[in-house]
Amino acid sequence: MNDSKQTTSFLDNVSMYFDQAAQFTGQSADLLRQIKICNSMYHFRFPVRTSRGYEVVDGWRAEHSHHKMPTKGGIRYSEEANAEEVTALAALMTYKCAVVDVPFGGAKGAIRIDPKKYSIGELEQITRRYTHELVKKNFIGPGIDVPAPDYGTGPREMAWIADTYAAFHPGELDSLGCVTGKSVAQGGIRGRTEATGRGVFFAIREACSDAEAMNSVGLSLGIAGKRVIVQGLGNVGYHAALFCQEGGAILVGISEFEGAIYNAAGIDLASLMAHRKETGSILGFAGATDLPNREAGLEADCDILIPAALENQISAENAPRIKAKILAEGANGPTTANAEKILLEKGVLIIPDIYANAGGVTVSYFEWLKDLSHVSFGRIAKRFVQSSYGAMADVVEETTGRKLTPQQRNTIVRGADEIDLVNSGLEEIMSNAYQEINEIRKRDPRIPGMRSAAFVSAINKIAVSYAELGIWP
Ligand code: GLU
Repeated sequence: MNDSKQTTSFLDNVSMYFDQAAQFTGQSADLLRQIKICNSMYHFRFPVRTSRGYEVVDGWRAEHSHHKMPTKGGIRYSEEANAEEVTALAALMTYKCAVVDVPFGGAKGAIRIDPKKYSIGELEQITRRYTHELVKKNFIGPGIDVPAPDYGTGPREMAWIADTYAAFHPGELDSLGCVTGKSVAQGGIRGRTEATGRGVFFAIREACSDAEAMNSVGLSLGIAGKRVIVQGLGNVGYHAALFCQEGGAILVGISEFEGAIYNAAGIDLASLMAHRKETGSILGFAGATDLPNREAGLEADCDILIPAALENQISAENAPRIKAKILAEGANGPTTANAEKILLEKGVLIIPDIYANAGGVTVSYFEWLKDLSHVSFGRIAKRFVQSSYGAMADVVEETTGRKLTPQQRNTIVRGADEIDLVNSGLEEIMSNAYQEINEIRKRDPRIPGMRSAAFVSAINKIAVSYAELGIWP
């Protein structure tokens, strides 16, 4: 979705962000060129028989960087999809994985369709054919390239991909690891659906507990009481809003395709979702006021703005009117490079996409590990941990002469379930990455913002991988 007032493309923006940061890395121009370019791009077309007759559909898979294998990234179903967009998104995946130390190269795929115009049977046919094309050219596999959901796709499409891949690789023990974002019943992992939104929340929480960062934007410490606006109530936006609300923030506004709503006293997310299910729109909700248009949603009064829809939503045109002090990028590439300059001048803290929305691929990594190890996390150790902690609780009672309350005992004696391990693993990774980015920023005051610092972190880590591979000195 290109902003009409926007002159640079999404790929240009990613390129500008890269170049801006590259000067602070100390890497050679040759190596920087290698890290920046897209390694391979496969564009193919195939026929599909629909209720309207035969159609020719365009598909892409871009593998941006092979410095780590497999490559990883979602598949998007969108009428706006094109080679440039896929390349830009694949590049962001490379940097994103590096920022959070997820050992994958970056990739992205797309099919140019509006999924709403096709029946479930047609979508299955399209997805299976797309997968077959990837199999033919060796663009998919647990050790090659591992797709996941993105805009317009979800667990259903991932199940079709896994099944098609398995059909072409009979007896391949690890074939479930060829795709992530599957439902739990089909080899997925608990917590993947909400992972990106939860990661956005962790990123915001880190920033809100950083005294220096809060000082610089003139906000008090802590997420509690902060006023949040979310653009896009899809999987990422909905979960980010939910976790922020649970963390004590006030959801004051929502902007969606059909328009925007606002309530300074707070919007009840559960009632809004029920209203939307009933009417098909967020507008006309009794618990908020309709704004004149969806753009007004981005520009309304708030502390934190979470764009969680598509790229290029905040451009040089609307950036001067943005009131948020913190911009937490749930979507990939929501802010153009020119808009970023304006926002940084205004003192806005931008928590960049390659860090803020890395929770999805992080939990995809956990899912891939689960598929390769053929056992869910916590399954083997849980009972053992419970009994040793139980014995420890007995010793505590004996030596202190005090009986633990049932709640105290339950807290101590609980072995971790898969979901506990996934969520705590995600929290640890998001927290570490924030500290790492922050240190880079503090070390070199010339680095203009958190995005450049995140790019510096990513580029330097990729450079180390090239050195380790012996490809680059
Ligand atoms: N599509 C998601 C992203 O942009 C997830 C990718 C993945 O899990 O591989 O980060």
